[in-house]
Order: sequence, then structure tokens, then C-alpha cells
Amino acid sequence: MRCGKIVCVGQNYREHIREMRSEEPAEPVLFLKPSTSLIGDGEEIIIPEGIGMVHHEVELALIIGKGGKGISEADALSHVSHVAVFNDVTARDVQTEARKAGLPWALAKGMDTFAPLGERVPLDRVPDLRSLDLEMRVNGALRQKGNTAQMIFSPQRLISYISRFMTLEEGDVIATGTPSGVGPLGPGDVAEATVHGVGTLRNPVRR
Ligand code: MG
Repeated sequence: MRCGKIVCVGQNYREHIREMRSEEPAEPVLFLKPSTSLIGDGEEIIIPEGIGMVHHEVELALIIGKGGKGISEADALSHVSHVAVFNDVTARDVQTEARKAGLPWALAKGMDTFAPLGERVPLDRVPDLRSLDLEMRVNGALRQKGNTAQMIFSPQRLISYISRFMTLEEGDVIATGTPSGVGPLGPGDVAEATVHGVGTLRNPVRR
């Protein structure tokens, strides 16, 4: 399947908003990653020279099967063909500097290899998108633990909101935000993101 745009949702779990010292948003916070940042299970996350702290963020990804614009919440899930585990790899120092200066996050989020995406699982094999446990382990140690029930904006709400403004196309990926516990990834680490009922995504890290 062709991969289109990757629409990411920031600040969709309260505990993560607290740890980032942000305010709870009234509407979903959106940013994009380029398709060139995508890698698959087992591929390496590569931290470019000169880039400081890089963080992991385990997320549930929705894969669009049928495109559309102005999709209603009631119809939203009929546009999703698959789900997958996603790691929203973030150059946190670069993002923090950008936030302070009121500048975009594109570089911090969009570097090559910063969008690991796991195996696509058909939506009908995942009965309830709001009861999935998410975990991130680094070198086997548990770093993040959450449940999709804690999302502020549901998958249906996100698809409806995004498609008011951006046409969704087959193959687009929506990353639905991360729970708390984000933390550093360094050379030699192995990031292991799990969404129970969906799968596990393992990526070694190097500089
Ligand atoms: Mg994220």
C-alpha cells in the first residue's frame, strides 16, 4: 500500500500534556511528518550528527483505506482500513527550541527514520479502539504505559476534524498521540513499542 501523508496529533493524553507543561487544547493539535521519515519494523532509527536529545512516543496509528473530505464522526471508522503501532520519534531539544521561539516542529518531527510504523492490522481484527493498552520499552525496560481510553479526542473525532481541512487519501496515516512517559533514545538502544491487540514494533537506534 502506498503511504501518503502522516498526520500526527499532539497533546491527546492528559498525563503527557502535564509532563510537557502544556495546556489542554480545545481542538486537536496537528502536525505532519513527510513520507520519507517512514521506516518499518526492524529498521534502524538514525539520529543525525549534532542533534541532541531524541525521544520515543508510542502511538496507535490509523491507516486510511477510503479517502474523503468532511467525514462525519459516525462514518469515520468506515474510512479506516487498518491500524498499526507507531513511534513518533522526536528530536526533543530541537522541538523545545522551536516551541520557545514559536516556530514549527517540522524538523524536530520529520527527520529520516523518525516515523517507525509497524505491521498493518485490518481494523476488523481490533474490536475496540478505545480499550487498547500501549507500552514502550527501551532495552526491555518499561518507559511508557497507557490506554487508548485516555485519549482526549477519539479516533472518530480526529478523522472528522482533520478531514474538515485536509482531504484524507488512501494510505494516509493518522498517529493519534502518545501517553506519558516519553524519554530518551540513544545509539545502541532498542525501542520496542507495543499496542496490545495490534502488535509490537522494534527498532534499533544508531547515530
Ligand atoms: Mg506524538
